[in-house]
Amino acid sequence: MNGHIRTAWWILCSMGMMLLSCHKESPSTSGNIPSANHQAVGSSAHDLLSDTPYDSLQIEIAYMPGYQPDNQAQQQLQSFLQTYLHKSGGIHITVHQIPDAGKSTYSLQDVMQLESSYRTQFTTGNQIAVFILYVNGQYTDPQVLGITYLNTSMCIFAKTIHDNSGGIGQASRSAVEATVLEHEFGHMLGLVNTGSPMQTPHEDASHPHHCNNSNCLMYYQTETSDLFGFLIGSQVPSLDNNCVHDLEANGGK
Ligand SMILES: [Zn+2]
Ligand SMILES: [Zn+2]
Repeated sequence: MNGHIRTAWWILCSMGMMLLSCHKESPSTSGNIPSANHQAVGSSAHDLLSDTPYDSLQIEIAYMPGYQPDNQAQQQLQSFLQTYLHKSGGIHITVHQIPDAGKSTYSLQDVMQLESSYRTQFTTGNQIAVFILYVNGQYTDPQVLGITYLNTSMCIFAKTIHDNSGGIGQASRSAVEATVLEHEFGHMLGLVNTGSPMQTPHEDASHPHHCNNSNCLMYYQTETSDLFGFLIGSQVPSLDNNCVHDLEANGGK
C-alpha cells in the first residue's frame, strides 16, 4: 500500500445525462471499517492489480429495495476486471439486499454510515474485498452517479441512474451502470496518477485524476455528445493505452 497518499481526499464522479465530473473533498472517519479497508482512494491499486499478496477479489454489492444491480453491468464489470487484474484465485461478486434507509438524498457521511452498518466482506488472508453500495436516492450533488471514497469502497446512486437511463431516447441502463462501475473501479486501480504512477504524462490538467484522452473511460467529460453516443450504442468506453500502461506497470495485465 502507498501510505504516502494518506492525504485526505476522495473522488467523486458523476455521469449525469451528459456530465462526467469528479471532485476532491475530505472524508470523515467511519465506524467499523478495519484499517485495511479504510485507506485513501488508489492506495490499494497494486494490491487489486497484482496476484500478490491477494490472489482473489471479493466484490460485495449491497443494494436497497428496487435497485438490484443490473446483471449485464455486473458481467461487464467482471470482464473488465478480468482483463486487467491478476487474480488467479478468481473475481467473485456477491449481491445482497439491505433495508431502505428512507432518504431521498445521501451525503458522504450517510454513505459511510451505511457501509459501516451493512458491509460484511473485508480484506483478509489472500483475499482483497471491495464494497459497492447501491442507494435509492441521489447524492448531495444530484448529477453525481457514483463516488469512490475509500481504497475499496464506492457508492452508486442507483435512483439517479434509473431516472436517466433505460427510457425512450435515453441511454441503455446496462451501459450507463457498467460505465459508472468501471470508471469508479478505475480510480480504485489508481487512475489517473493516484496510486498507479503515470508511465506517460496523461493526467488532465484541468481535471485531476482523469485522463486527457476524450475517448478514454477515465476522461472527465462535460456536456459531450461523444459520451452520449457511446452509451446509446451500449458500448462502454474503454481504457486507452496510457491508462492500460499505468495498470500494467503497477502489477496489472
Ligand atoms: Zn472520475
Ligand atoms: Zn486514459
